[in-house]
Amino acid sequence: FTTHTPVPAGHDAFPESMIRQYMGHYPDRLGITWEQFINLGKTNPNDPNEKFSMSFLACNLSQEVNGVSWLHGEVSKDILGGMWPGYFKDELHIGYVTNGVHFFTWCAANLQRLYAKYFPEGFSLPDYSIPAWQKVHEIPDSELWAERLVLKNKLIAHVKKRVSDPAHFRFDSPVQLIRIHESLKPDVLTIGFARRFATYKRAHLLFTNLDRLDAIVNNPERPVQFLFAGKAHPNDKPGQDLIKRIVEVAAMPRFAGKVIFLQNYDMELARRMVQGVDIWLNTPTRPLEASGTSGEKAVMNGTMHFSVLDGWWVEGYHEGGGWKLPMERTFEDQNFQNELDAELIYTTIENDIVPKYYNRSTDNVPHEWVEAIKVCLADIAPNFTTNRMLTDYQERFYGKLYERNTHMRADDFRMAREIAAWKRKVSNAWDKVRIVSAQRIDMGKEAILIGHSYNVEVVVDIDGLKADDIGVEMIMADQIDDGNNVKVVAKRELKLERQEGSLAFYRIASTPDTTGSFDIAIRVFPKNAKLPHRMDFALVKWA
Ligand SMILES: *Cc1c(COP(=O)(O)O)cnc(C)c1O
Repeated sequence: FTTHTPVPAGHDAFPESMIRQYMGHYPDRLGITWEQFINLGKTNPNDPNEKFSMSFLACNLSQEVNGVSWLHGEVSKDILGGMWPGYFKDELHIGYVTNGVHFFTWCAANLQRLYAKYFPEGFSLPDYSIPAWQKVHEIPDSELWAERLVLKNKLIAHVKKRVSDPAHFRFDSPVQLIRIHESLKPDVLTIGFARRFATYKRAHLLFTNLDRLDAIVNNPERPVQFLFAGKAHPNDKPGQDLIKRIVEVAAMPRFAGKVIFLQNYDMELARRMVQGVDIWLNTPTRPLEASGTSGEKAVMNGTMHFSVLDGWWVEGYHEGGGWKLPMERTFEDQNFQNELDAELIYTTIENDIVPKYYNRSTDNVPHEWVEAIKVCLADIAPNFTTNRMLTDYQERFYGKLYERNTHMRADDFRMAREIAAWKRKVSNAWDKVRIVSAQRIDMGKEAILIGHSYNVEVVVDIDGLKADDIGVEMIMADQIDDGNNVKVVAKRELKLERQEGSLAFYRIASTPDTTGSFDIAIRVFPKNAKLPHRMDFALVKWA
């Protein structure tokens, strides 16, 4: 199960009554009871008020779960973690594969030719030989810059044609149209922002302080222009209001021709924009951008990326090859955070981006800028292709799933039947499994010392189960002051020593090797080497 977004609207959940209306016949077909069926979509079994969540259902029916970037994997552990009570976030099986984009679809043809000339091995299939991309540094600045200008000129011509196209619904005034024609120029630093107008993407952030924006776009020597495009979901009124606000700002006399909103956003316009602007801007509310992909399209075209460190950019950002806003939130209050982020954007544009872009030598090539493009191409772009993504899926998930699937099915599903029978047996006995005692058996009153060995013994009443159906482990965590943020530092399994009737004795000689204050506890779990991971059968008892 690949979970795609932390935004709640992306995790559908329905009342039980609605599920009953449409899926009442499912349990019969599957040979299970209604309770078994409905509980597949809940974290609290049999809670009539909990909705049936499609994401919980998917987790329960999938061996592996992943987010679409490293950070999104972490955030998904928080969102889904409630499904496995008794386990900490650190321990969950949820992984990640960072999204990528298709090189041959999104990289401009002239750049593909240029790259092929200098490092043909760098983007040929079956892999893009990522290290070969370092040869981007061998391309003469003037040659790379010339190709970038080709793309920018194409975009500008397209925009001019588009805004004058009588077939398009008109909202730009005649004055705006004239201004757009006058001020859209290839030698003006151009910043693009285009995507779905979901509110978390904060398309309006740039308009937080209109006077500062005014000073930036109307700087007489070093002007800046902004191109916006995007659509909102038909039911997303707040998203549509963002577009309205952009159109309003674009119509203000001081921004006419400087802030341009392009309608009818689609893949074709997206392609031209990510290839043709100088900077691609992204301003999501952390940590809601699961991955984001338009910036990946931009960087493979040498379009510099400027974004909040969220989604793919946490992994992608490379000093000198793009710009970032910090990953950590400074304010709880979203309005304060927006204000801070907006100020950081203005300052970065003024102090860093604009000078880099406009510093020209006699050949009119911005060498510093082109150097940044090269860093972006060599150290960022090749890591975010669909090729790399598919390789990750293969190595982290599909490969092992294929193998396990083959074993499970062999011999008329023998392994599947064995595991199912074992799970049934353990489930039936689990309520009676009881931790009788857990103690350090040879510790006096003196302090615990590094390098000394201390025996811990746990006695479990395993009533009806076999001693090796049960695992006993000692968990050590940094001293816990926030139950939601437990950091497990060590986990060690105890060894079965002996059995007396239904009592099993487990032991470990524990030798502390770090100083500090830790919380330590004992946990009992069902143990079977055939399980892919603990979350597959997440019964657990804590002492
Ligand atoms: C790539 C793409 C997107 C996704 O952009 P994000 O950066 O993930 O917001 C949206 N729309 C179109 C048309 C695209 O091509």
